[in-house]
Amino acid sequence: MEHIWAPWRLDYVVAEKPDNCILCEKRDAPDDDIANYVLYRGSHSYVLLNTFPYNSGHVMVVPHRHLDDLTGLNAEEAGELMLIAQWCVQALQEALGAEGINLGMNIGQPAGAGIEDHIHLHIVPRWSGDTNYMTTVANTRVVPQSLEESAEQLRPLIQRIAENSQ
Ligand SMILES: [Zn+2]
Repeated sequence: MEHIWAPWRLDYVVAEKPDNCILCEKRDAPDDDIANYVLYRGSHSYVLLNTFPYNSGHVMVVPHRHLDDLTGLNAEEAGELMLIAQWCVQALQEALGAEGINLGMNIGQPAGAGIEDHIHLHIVPRWSGDTNYMTTVANTRVVPQSLEESAEQLRPLIQRIAENSQ
């Protein structure tokens, strides 16, 4: 790749050292839930769509507490996290007809964590042959359903599943 000499970017590069956490920001901005693709808010965790999804309907369950280690969650927080994950799985099966689902956390930089300081559980719906359209083209993953569509489908469903299970 060709490098472009762009000295004006230095201001941007030097200035842009955000020590703010994007997951804490979204947690603290309930009025922006639509814009932030937040789908559900629990007592100890919330759910949002991944804006750089591996597949349509890729959601994340995020503990409210800013923690970099799974072992830091207390029993109540850990329990609700998994309960909310179950609701997400059910919603992805019902709304998107997910044939398989991957759940996982990337804890620490060597494990591939994108946001190292605030743990989050990835839930990725899978379909037979979906790797065919998950090909990386010019660093842009091709995802057939828009984030807006996914959010509109999943938000009411997760709410309903949550209400029915309580
Ligand atoms: Zn955070």
